Amino acid sequence: MVIVLFGAPGVGKGTQAQLLADRYGVPHLSTGEAFRRAIQENSEFGARARHYVERGLLVPDEVVTAIVEQFLSSPPYLQGCILDGFPRTLPQAQALDAFLQRQGRAVDAVVNIMVAEDEIIRRLLLRGRPDDSEAVIRQRLQVYAEQTQPVLDYYAQQGKLRSVDGNADIETVHHRIVQLLRSISVDNVPSSQ
Ligand code: AMP
Repeated sequence: MVIVLFGAPGVGKGTQAQLLADRYGVPHLSTGEAFRRAIQENSEFGARARHYVERGLLVPDEVVTAIVEQFLSSPPYLQGCILDGFPRTLPQAQALDAFLQRQGRAVDAVVNIMVAEDEIIRRLLLRGRPDDSEAVIRQRLQVYAEQTQPVLDYYAQQGKLRSVDGNADIETVHHRIVQLLRSISVDNVPSSQ
């Protein structure tokens, strides 16, 4: 299974992705987390990403796509994975499709977690990550609306887009996602690898 968790910053993608990964026994890949680790380790890759992450801007597509392809080529990810925070632009979504196709697989479902904007800002301010200052939060929300939301249309056209109401506690939202994946039989899709 390859599941994409979609939604604005602060809707709970990371938490839900981890719960799904634990439930289905596949890895969780968060590009944001990969960047934060690389920045902390001061790797060459981190040095390339830092400028963007600190400002709430998107890291260039070719950098993101290269790192994701590296992950998806490694054994644990061949069983499937839960993608969190990727793809975030149309070129990233197209690159992902092309890459998975070369491996003989495809995105099974895109789950859009929907949360009201004032609740999103409240949650992000509570979280307190280094890129969670109010100015950077606003920038990230704007980037989401302008560059990431169009990706929804791309998946809607493929018939893969599903939406979930994320205005509830963690367990309830998790349950909603599991029900949804069950209803479209994605929860038992065997890996094609
Ligand atoms: P996140 O943890 O998903 O909120 O991501 C934190 C930051 O990492 C974002 O504000 C971007 O600067 C960067 N980032 C994460 N994923 C991507 C992506 N798919 N494309 C471009 N930049 C990304």
